[in-house]
Amino acid sequence: MKGKLLIFSAPSGSGKTTIVNHLLKKYPNFGFSISATTRAPRAGEEDGKHYYFLTEEEFADKLDKGQFAEHEEVYAGTSYGTLKTEVERLWELGKQAVFDVDVVGGLNLKKYYGDNALAIFVRVPSLDVLEKRLRDRGTETEENIQKRLGKVEKEMAFEKDFDVTLVNDNLEDALARAEVIIDKFLAE
Ligand code: ADP
Ligand code: 5GP
Repeated sequence: MKGKLLIFSAPSGSGKTTIVNHLLKKYPNFGFSISATTRAPRAGEEDGKHYYFLTEEEFADKLDKGQFAEHEEVYAGTSYGTLKTEVERLWELGKQAVFDVDVVGGLNLKKYYGDNALAIFVRVPSLDVLEKRLRDRGTETEENIQKRLGKVEKEMAFEKDFDVTLVNDNLEDALARAEVIIDKFLAE
């Protein structure tokens, strides 16, 4: 069975995870695409649930074998990627695959899966708001916050290449708009 892909991309702190988690709760036939990564698990993260945590050797081996639909060194020394088998796993379960990936990964998935995919760029109203949300989330060290903020401008430049932009201002409004965008795409 072939399903579709709903891809949410944005700079870190824009609200991808919040929006994706809402949609996964709201739509029982949506399944989260679990990415592979070489970074270490954070407290509370489980292998095969939040990510497939791989060693660099395991990641490189899968790359050599052409098993990734897209992959990227998102931060220096840390790779992330979407395994083709992960998308197939979700479709086999009768689910639409939902993605929380960085902007380059989102566009590469769109390139690979074409019209089966909807690439959604999540945008915050301003950089100040983005920084505040990132700080208030309280999950990152100052070094990581700077690393993430340092990429924002470059990432924003990719917005025009996405199928649609979702402005995450007021959360409730943004979630409602997300549902409209998705319902329309799935009905096509
Ligand atoms: P991302 O997954 O893109 O890095 P998150 O979903 O983790 O972003 O959101 C970053 C922080 O901002 C979180 O603490 C989240 O609760 C908060 N947040 C998300 N959307 C909104 C919103 N519309 N208004 C206020 N805070 C928000
Ligand atoms: P984190 O380490 O905070 O979980 O994720 C860091 C960044 O990697 C986020 O921007 C996230 O969207 C991105 N990411 C997660 N999975 C993938 C993936 O499979 N491919 C790509 N290209 N980026 C990913």
